[in-house]
Amino acid sequence: MINEHNQLQDNLAAYALNALDPDDIPALETHIKTCASCQATLTEYQRVSAGLLAGLPPRPPRPALKRILAAQLPGNANNVRARFTSWSLAQFAMAGAVVLLLGINLFSLFQVRSLQDQQAEMTRQQETEQTALSILAYAGTQSLPVSGEGLTGSLLLDRDRNAAVLFVWDLPLLTPNQTYQVWLIDPQGKRISAGLFNAVTGRPITIFELSSPKPLSNFTSMGVTIEPRGGSPQPTGPRILSVNF
Ligand SMILES: [Zn+2]
Repeated sequence: MINEHNQLQDNLAAYALNALDPDDIPALETHIKTCASCQATLTEYQRVSAGLLAGLPPRPPRPALKRILAAQLPGNANNVRARFTSWSLAQFAMAGAVVLLLGINLFSLFQVRSLQDQQAEMTRQQETEQTALSILAYAGTQSLPVSGEGLTGSLLLDRDRNAAVLFVWDLPLLTPNQTYQVWLIDPQGKRISAGLFNAVTGRPITIFELSSPKPLSNFTSMGVTIEPRGGSPQPTGPRILSVNF
């Protein structure tokens, strides 16, 4: 379901502009019916494209129309074709401008969404810092070192209260299509997702509170991999750090 979503959401912009390959339409329409995220994105695209089209000036410029009408008078037959051709070129240029504007607008939309993601991430980090402070205040908390290529950090682990917060310095920013995903690893080597996070622009430290579905004492280590946006059921990307409990 997640893979289907990742593949199909790229088609939404083209679909909103009626520019999607007809072969790709049935799969997308079926997916949209059951995917709230794609429904919301499609509504956004449709609003943008509708707003742009409504804002366009009336297509035929009046002087040109006058010339065409004048050219249709008897004795001006040769002029009709010439005028009509140049009018079509103007229309063609207008269509080009519309496509360009739509492109720019969709690009801006993506940038706004990326900023919104960053804002949400910063809010989440502030909440996590408060959790981290309360964990630090507890005597039983362990501080475990992070091992990873070129990365420093630590994991604050409070087994009694089943809480863990990861601190990593200078974690690279990912592309908008990627996320960091935390995995808890049990003694049999089985991996369970403990959540997704991203680095925040301009912040040297990334802080993430693990959400463990089971007591943390069930696990012997944790790792972080780079995964496609939305996360994966099992790790697929490169592991960038690990912590032994
Ligand atoms: Zn979807």
